[in-house]
Amino acid sequence: QVITEPLTLKISGVTFAYSDGHRDILQGINLTLTPKEKLAILGRSGSGKSTLASLIRGDLVPTKGQITLNGIDVTEFGDEIAKYIGVIHQTPYLFNTTIVNNVRLGNEAASDQEVWDVLKRVGLEKLIKKLPQGLETMVDEAGLRFSGGERHRLALARILLKDAPIIILDEPTVGLDPITERALVKTFMEVLQDKTLIWITHHLQGVDQMDKIIFIEDGEIVLQGSPAKL
Ligand code: ATP
Ligand code: MG
Repeated sequence: QVITEPLTLKISGVTFAYSDGHRDILQGINLTLTPKEKLAILGRSGSGKSTLASLIRGDLVPTKGQITLNGIDVTEFGDEIAKYIGVIHQTPYLFNTTIVNNVRLGNEAASDQEVWDVLKRVGLEKLIKKLPQGLETMVDEAGLRFSGGERHRLALARILLKDAPIIILDEPTVGLDPITERALVKTFMEVLQDKTLIWITHHLQGVDQMDKIIFIEDGEIVLQGSPAKL
């Protein structure tokens, strides 16, 4: 499947239960995201937010209903889904290799210049230029000197290099101090302006910049609207 047009994500009547579970985690979820639209998903711990993210990526399959990208079921994409949907998790995964390899992961053809470009956009260029081995610095060594916020920025650089049109942020700032968090949210919003964005979060800070907010409770969308309305 190769799609070149702008992507519309459509979630239609999605119900989901884990195979070992006894209850529906999500029930009859309906949602449409047009190109570049920004959505915040709020809800208590255990309400099914990350489950919904996995369904959108096609990593889980709905018990009922369907999720499509421009009409094509997301489960049909297989690994190719990474071209269209990028995810940054709560704890970004970094690999025991060089900085440049970490950023290039899944996009091995990218040039050093392209890697520097995305590092600049996420605010890491200066820090990495100062390292004696620069892009070739091993991340396990540098892991000690990389703060939580810097690790998130590296993960963001990797996603930007892949250039997927839809980005899911699954509580990407949890566990950071408020100042780092605010700076990071600002960076996310700036560099992801041209993307369709799904931001899963626990708290309201920053969600006023989104087009749409939904609250999930007991597996259902209980509130939906623009930040101004809610
Ligand atoms: P949090 O805000 O804590 O990240 P969440 O809204 O992302 O929570 P999910 O991780 O989607 O919640 O979990 C929803 C429910 O599904 C929880 O009750 C959880 O225990 C259950 N669950 C999650 N993963 C699995 C799994 N692999 N197998 C069975 N149950 C699961
Ligand atoms: Mg979660």
